[in-house]
Amino acid sequence: MECKETLVNTLGRSLLRRRGRRLRRVMMDLGLSCPNRDGTSGYGGCIYCDIHGSGTGASRDQGLEAQWQEGLTRARKVNPEGPAAILYFQSYSNTWPDLAPLAAALEQAKNWAQEAPILAIGTRPDCFSPEAAELLAQQLGTFEEVWVEFGLETADDEVQKRIGRHDSLANFHAACELAGQHGLTRIAHCLAGLPGEKPGGLLRQVEEVRRAGCEGIKFHQLMVLKRTKLAHEWINGDISLLEDQEYIQMVADALEILPPEVIVHRLVAEAPATEYLAPKPWPGRQKVHSEIENELRRRGSSQGSALSSVS
Ligand code: SF4
Repeated sequence: MECKETLVNTLGRSLLRRRGRRLRRVMMDLGLSCPNRDGTSGYGGCIYCDIHGSGTGASRDQGLEAQWQEGLTRARKVNPEGPAAILYFQSYSNTWPDLAPLAAALEQAKNWAQEAPILAIGTRPDCFSPEAAELLAQQLGTFEEVWVEFGLETADDEVQKRIGRHDSLANFHAACELAGQHGLTRIAHCLAGLPGEKPGGLLRQVEEVRRAGCEGIKFHQLMVLKRTKLAHEWINGDISLLEDQEYIQMVADALEILPPEVIVHRLVAEAPATEYLAPKPWPGRQKVHSEIENELRRRGSSQGSALSSVS
């Protein structure tokens, strides 16, 4: 019988294999913004970005120590002792407008490295400077792994314009190269179902992620959240959204051309029910995970199994 564990190289399985335990993300919010919101690249953000900067927004009003303690308490439910957390600066662009807030936060975060051996930072490719790469590389003396997460979202610069993102595929590759030169672990966000995206858009993103040498990937479906430009388009009937079964097929196709060593950090996005509008109905995370694996099993395929036909 085929071993279910080998179908997708998920983050949970990778952590268990490498560290003998799962670690839980502790979300940190520095209260920053993004060049696509403050007028440097654009105003109002990408059409799907909500007021929380595509992050949790749960703790923006708290100090970092309080955010950490609250997150660690949750992480301790999985690992009561020893390393328990991934320290994750997610919301907005954490290397923008300058590095001072992040540098100060990282100084404070040194105290938490025992419990959080992995540091993860989210940012836009166009906000990732050599100085940012240097600052993060310095953290490798404190943390065992430093991950930097870049939004790719589409491999088509025309779609970048359609969604008001104001970044580019060239910037993504430049940022990945810079991060790789500094020994940072690169994780790419990919998004399925954007308006204007041509058929095969998710496959092209995976090809670019592979070309960039990223060590990790996240798959998201386009979600309509309240208080976004996308919500207006959806209410006006100007866009169509993926259904769950279409998404499951797309991700299964994408996984087949993803190298098996690339760690899949996420297979589907989630949002708080209070902010979520569409698509509905949409199954829960575990159900989407198992349906993607069931689809791979039904096809007799797995992560990377179609690579020889595309290389
Ligand atoms: S780049 Fe990220 S934080 Fe900035 S507007 Fe787009 S989704 Fe929001």
